[in-house]
Amino acid sequence: MAPSERDEILQRARGFCAPFRIADGDGFRLSSINPGDTLSLDAGDKPESKRVLAEGVEILAELQDRLYAQDRWAVLLIFQAMDAAGKDGTIKHVMSGVNPQGCQVTSFKAPSALDLDHDFLWRCNRCLPERGRIGIFNRSYYEETLVVRVHPEMLARQSIPPELVGKDIWQQRYRDIRQYEEYLTNNGVVIRKFFLHVSRREQKKRFLERLDQPEKNWKFSLNDIKERAYWEDYMQAYEAMVRHTASKRAPWYVVPADNKWFTRLVVAAAVIDTLASLELNYPTVSEAMRAELQIAREQLMAE
Ligand code: ATP
Ligand code: MG
Repeated sequence: MAPSERDEILQRARGFCAPFRIADGDGFRLSSINPGDTLSLDAGDKPESKRVLAEGVEILAELQDRLYAQDRWAVLLIFQAMDAAGKDGTIKHVMSGVNPQGCQVTSFKAPSALDLDHDFLWRCNRCLPERGRIGIFNRSYYEETLVVRVHPEMLARQSIPPELVGKDIWQQRYRDIRQYEEYLTNNGVVIRKFFLHVSRREQKKRFLERLDQPEKNWKFSLNDIKERAYWEDYMQAYEAMVRHTASKRAPWYVVPADNKWFTRLVVAAAVIDTLASLELNYPTVSEAMRAELQIAREQLMAE
């Protein structure tokens, strides 16, 4: 790929993700992002968007190769969303070109008894990516400020000493998360967070598809319908989460999720933009190393 072509793709990636990047949560309103937004593109642009995504995936693979070789930064991508917003499909498509050796996906389900015997960050902390790797959290410690906030009885199951659970528990959780992310950032973990923002109407449509299509039945859970009843509470929790935990160094992307092709484009763009900002270079070869390479070459040629 020619350098000018590459620059153009990087430029375009920036254009796709910048409108949805929240680097300062103060005053953030969820209503400022329309789940059906596709910027200036429409359904007719879908084939074109697939081509752009394919190009993006190619660049992503190249950037990841450098990340791995340089072995300096770790990248942590966090995905949060209501059910059927497309987390799984987005992760699958965006990461389709990357070397599996340099990438790990962890899905966080309801906490186990062992998890509950520890602080809420514990199980996620064990799954952080190593330097040179991209780690993906499919759900994360943010569930603590979402499902647990919407269902406070879950907090009781954590057996935290009662005198430590006051009215300001959520503010405390946000603060702990901010500090934790600051700590990780200081240690070379680059954090980007994605909230795939689907509308209630689109979720209904996707649930009905899961019921109608036998090969999608397995994805359906009655519990998903129960959670849907708490939609407004969840939206308030998401808004508060972004408000309190978006920062320059660990921004949220609130990504419109009613059109899967557009969601994938924006997420791919954000990941590319992030990696491109890191100045990833292959390790340079020292004089001594170069001399060794020369000797190796001579030995091989002499065989
Ligand atoms: P899919 O999108 O394919 O349905 P999923 O990520 O929803 O996949 P599930 O097994 O359906 O996976 O659900 C995981 C459940 O675990 C979610 O309902 C989520 O809210 C819950 N969960 C995750 N973390 C926590 C937590 N810390 N405390 C309580 N519940 C949690
Ligand atoms: Mg589910």
